[in-house]
Amino acid sequence: MTRPYNFSAGPAVLPEPVLRQAAAEMLDWRGSGMSVMEMSHRGKQFEQICDEAEADLRELLSVPDDYAVLFLQGGGIGENAIVPLNLIGRRQAHAADYVVNGSWSTKSFKEALRYGDVAMAASAEGPAVLDGVEQGPWTYMPDPASWRVRPQASYVHLCSNETIGGVEFMDWPDLAALGAPEAVLTVDASSHILSRPMDVRRAGLIYAGAQKNIGPAGLTIVIVRKDLLGHALPICPSAFDYAIVAKERSRFNTPPTYAIYIAGLVFKWLKEQGGVAEMEKLNVAKAKLLYDYLDGTDFYRNTVHRPVRSRMNVPFMLHDDALNAPFLKAAEEARLLQLKGHKSVGGMRASIYNAMPIEGVRALVEFMKEFERTHG
Ligand SMILES: *Cc1c(COP(=O)(O)O)cnc(C)c1O
Repeated sequence: MTRPYNFSAGPAVLPEPVLRQAAAEMLDWRGSGMSVMEMSHRGKQFEQICDEAEADLRELLSVPDDYAVLFLQGGGIGENAIVPLNLIGRRQAHAADYVVNGSWSTKSFKEALRYGDVAMAASAEGPAVLDGVEQGPWTYMPDPASWRVRPQASYVHLCSNETIGGVEFMDWPDLAALGAPEAVLTVDASSHILSRPMDVRRAGLIYAGAQKNIGPAGLTIVIVRKDLLGHALPICPSAFDYAIVAKERSRFNTPPTYAIYIAGLVFKWLKEQGGVAEMEKLNVAKAKLLYDYLDGTDFYRNTVHRPVRSRMNVPFMLHDDALNAPFLKAAEEARLLQLKGHKSVGGMRASIYNAMPIEGVRALVEFMKEFERTHG
């Protein structure tokens, strides 16, 4: 029996071959006599697992040598504090500017306020008219030309895929062109990392919680330019001081060993699929299937500004909210799981990460058509 299709926003679906391999290796990892969960994080077996995971991630994202890759804990929300603790003190003004385009970047902004002179560079909370269409709050991306970036800022923070609103933004600007050549871009890429090639060099720091597009919850990945290390505020916990973690190759404290192992299996699976360029092609095709259908009917709607519609998270509304509960019930019966939208937005949300096969998106669209036919 095949598994159901799981559209959860996170923790989310994982590639079935990865789960099967993990199951096969659960009791005895490659003749070691141990489960990965039972290994010392300083032993040679785990060292190999961790180093290979790092090397594969570097290869997949073409991470330049002058960037460190860190395996941390604390999740995306943890990074909301850990980023300013590490970076805001880099320059004398202790300033940072935040682009706020949805719920996750709002959280990042609010948390950072505790650590220095933090300002909002731009916000998508108010309505806007774009391409002649009136856009509601959190359905668009403020044009970088309008960002108020201060020259004294240590960094500018951006969430490149707002998981709840379904807004994805890849035109990461050159901050020098915005009048802040010394500031660096810091990107929360939690919900679309590895879904497409990313020019790591455009950012000083990229972070991502693993549970959306990488592996189990509990692991956070940080990719940071090495010259940015070593400026942590004195109050920064040692376990979250990037310079210390980098020096100890992510083994200053006990890292989330099993989550790193699973992430490593996902990286190998991605390489077998042809890497992030191939994933991008597939993700474009998956998203197109769903958006084309949404745009061709009045029964459902997605209101995100088209150029920044997320390929990973597709929120949609039914034309009548009274149909939400029957839709979810029927979807579950059709083995299409976890489609309920975030409570702040309502409606539905289909998260179609790397591990969601195109057949799953086809099954969803067929189900939506049928539901429209029987309830329209
Ligand atoms: C899920 C998510 C987070 C929060 O992750 P936690 O692991 O719950 O801390 C942060 N940012 C984005 C964009 C997310 O999608």
